[in-house]
Amino acid sequence: RLYNEVQDLKGNIRVYCRIRPFLPGQSKKRTTVEYIGENGELVISNPSKQGKGSHRLFKFNKVVGPAATQEEVFLDTQPLIRSVLDGYNVCIFAYGQTGSGKTYTMSGPNITSQEDWGVNYRALHDLFQISQHRKSSISYEVGVQMVEIYNEQVRDLLSSDGPYKRYPSLGATVLNERSSRSHSVLTVHVYGMDLETGAVLRGNLHLVDLAGSERVDRSEAIGERLREAQHINKSLSALGDVIFSLAQKSQHVPFRNSKLTQVLQSSLGGQAKTLMFVQLNPDVDSYSETISTLKFAERVS
Ligand code: ADP
Ligand code: MG
Repeated sequence: RLYNEVQDLKGNIRVYCRIRPFLPGQSKKRTTVEYIGENGELVISNPSKQGKGSHRLFKFNKVVGPAATQEEVFLDTQPLIRSVLDGYNVCIFAYGQTGSGKTYTMSGPNITSQEDWGVNYRALHDLFQISQHRKSSISYEVGVQMVEIYNEQVRDLLSSDGPYKRYPSLGATVLNERSSRSHSVLTVHVYGMDLETGAVLRGNLHLVDLAGSERVDRSEAIGERLREAQHINKSLSALGDVIFSLAQKSQHVPFRNSKLTQVLQSSLGGQAKTLMFVQLNPDVDSYSETISTLKFAERVS
């Protein structure tokens, strides 16, 4: 194994929590984040309670605070990403309510500045670099695919009639609006051949920016919006169920319950390695969504 990281965790599932900073103009907001520990501890306080029972402790493999840079976050994921070159399947996804920083972590706020790049671009860059500057007898080919899952329909975003080709007509706001209600999955396929022995290896990496996990008020959402919300709900709970079963080492893993879990199946379970970024907005107004996000994480870690 050339690029493999040390095996460390039960069931190969690790969970990092990332807390985004307050944004400019939000500086007077109150935070629910009471304490971040060195070893993955996070204490959240309930803004409407005081004294006993007002604090809750959560434990992760790592907590990434608001000051962390994109580079630091990437370096924490790099060994996992590189293990694709050893033939592992890897899935990294970001979970959280809209506005919690999922896209920031996965893609970054600004593609044109390399410093801002999120995990996606850095992973692609890293894997392309390594595959081009061969240090071993293995020759690599790297391919990329990108799909969107919206209302349980899978759409290829890089196809000739996909939205990226028609981008100007669609507009950035429209894409962004919609992106919070669809899952986007970037897949990197790696094919390696050992030129000395002829042995072949394959690995794939799924990088997933999930739809916003916020609960939509059933009394308010109607029509299309309600349908979207139901699909999101269904697929996120299906993902939770799959990861929960894997963490429990269950015999039966319910992959077939949603398009999302079907698409990700090869990189969840078995020898595959999974990393979930649990994204939090520290604002007190987000308290109840924060708790529901943390409960999702707690169930699988
Ligand atoms: P989501 O994809 O979960 O809806 P975004 O990634 O769009 O959330 O983040 C919401 C806003 O917060 C954006 O303006 C984004 O640039 C900003 N943001 C998120 N995370 C960070 C961070 N770690 N540092 C600075 N700004 C951030
Ligand atoms: Mg987003």
